[in-house]
Amino acid sequence: MIKINPVKISGNEKAKILDQLKAVCSQCSACPLHEGRTNTVWSDGNTNAKIMLIGEAPGQNEDMRGVPFVGRAGQLLDKFLEEHNISRKYDLYICNTVKCRPPENRVPKPDEKEACKKYLEAQINLIRPKVILLCGSTAVQSMMDNKLPISKIRGEWFDGPFNSKMMPIFHPSYLLRQHSLEEGSPRWLMGRDLEEVKKVISK
Ligand code: SF4
Repeated sequence: MIKINPVKISGNEKAKILDQLKAVCSQCSACPLHEGRTNTVWSDGNTNAKIMLIGEAPGQNEDMRGVPFVGRAGQLLDKFLEEHNISRKYDLYICNTVKCRPPENRVPKPDEKEACKKYLEAQINLIRPKVILLCGSTAVQSMMDNKLPISKIRGEWFDGPFNSKMMPIFHPSYLLRQHSLEEGSPRWLMGRDLEEVKKVISK
């Protein structure tokens, strides 16, 4: 969609291009998801962040506010980030595989993900994160040719675009239903994954 080398542009220019893309996206009708949206949900966080977190799709709260990860699952994500001293505002750039809310919060269909891929690719191209966190199986399947369940691949590192490293992690909406903090539980594993990410970005 855009052919630029972000290494050669300033942070201000990058932010300006992202804002222009956000404006284009807000008028998008490339797939049927535009029919039910209140707002497109473009991103949150820092456009100069080393970590990019990609979720599935906006839910009801996100659709209402136009910001990703602001419902109950988003609040749990914030709690995990705070516990591990990762700033949502400064350390992360957050977005989703599709920018409009699917009806009844269903999983986005392949043709919807394909239609929206140009925006996600542009975001990755401009942000050039060191680490990409793939939050849940929809994000994994959008970025990797891998159909294994998230429980089998979370916490592992994979090569990503532009020399980045990608790690699948549990989606916080799954963790909302998992309450144990015991060693080996999903919440415990999420904490371990975030510590691993911190090690990589501090190198
Ligand atoms: Fe356009 Fe993406 Fe929304 Fe579909 S989901 S209408 S491709 S912005």
